[in-house]
Amino acid sequence: MDDLKYGVRDKRGDWKPNGRIEGAPLWNWPPRLPKILAWLPGYIWPWNAFHMATALIYWFYIVPGVETMKTISWGWALWLYAVNAATILVFYGIFELRYYIKRTQATRFKYNHKFPGDAPSDVFWFQSQNLDNFLRSFFITIPLWTVVEVVFLWCFANGYVPWVGWADHPVYLAALVLVAPAIHEVHFFFIHRLIHWGPLYRWIHSVHHNSINPSPWSSLSMHPVEGFLYHAVAFWHLVIPSNPIVALFQLHVAGFGAVNGHLGFDKLEVTDDKAVDSHAYAHYLHHKYFEVNYGGDGLIPLDRWFGTWHDGTREGEAMMDARFQKKKERMNAKAEANH
Ligand SMILES: [Zn+2]
Ligand SMILES: [Zn+2]
Repeated sequence: MDDLKYGVRDKRGDWKPNGRIEGAPLWNWPPRLPKILAWLPGYIWPWNAFHMATALIYWFYIVPGVETMKTISWGWALWLYAVNAATILVFYGIFELRYYIKRTQATRFKYNHKFPGDAPSDVFWFQSQNLDNFLRSFFITIPLWTVVEVVFLWCFANGYVPWVGWADHPVYLAALVLVAPAIHEVHFFFIHRLIHWGPLYRWIHSVHHNSINPSPWSSLSMHPVEGFLYHAVAFWHLVIPSNPIVALFQLHVAGFGAVNGHLGFDKLEVTDDKAVDSHAYAHYLHHKYFEVNYGGDGLIPLDRWFGTWHDGTREGEAMMDARFQKKKERMNAKAEANH
């Protein structure tokens, strides 16, 4: 595909999409139903449908029976860890293999023309972003994802929280499934904003930000505190009356869905004239500029409300620069006052 029909490439070779990142049209006033209806299929397909499919496969084929889950034991906890690790290896690995190792798409639709594998750096374990990100994902973050999973399944199995049945409340649960990505967005925005606070950033979140040019393995490359808080989004289903399948869906939106922001490509070519949107640009800009786009790509426009939205346009850039300038002035004034 000709990526210059969809964006521009600068002298360095970095590509950026035309137009601006459009958030969900749910927040436009007055609401326009045709626009919402046109947006809905892209909201469901393919990413959220995939997360629902994996949640169902887990529930029917992977997760042990309720009796087993009444008692926490290494057996089923390690089994879940093994499956989580294997599925992430395959799912993220497909993107890594196709777009970063084989490079079948070269740099078409790629925001940063460089590939992390070509740029050794001292900030990473073994000077390798890939190896560092990979080890952190599999030996820190995915175990913590599994801890969250084991705890909520154990709570449901023991009846410590309400277990809403599909036969009794199908409409309510379907609505909860539709809302789950929004719960993710709000949860992620606030924990993410919190760990961008100076001391917490240096202690926790700087690990994730070592990858300025993220690739699939960067998605779950986190400090343990972040790895736990990030997946703890599924605990909202212990607070809201819910069902373990919906909680699994919530967990998969986080664990599997993390890859979206870190794909590095705007579109993934499937055939010569067909491509899937990655929804990666907003979070790519976060990795590039740090203090913009704390949330996802605008399902709930929290960044717009808090004044930290960068929509990918020149105006977005100008707004960010003005904000950085103001911050600098405030800090200078503070330094003066302390003298
Ligand atoms: Zn990230
Ligand atoms: Zn961040």
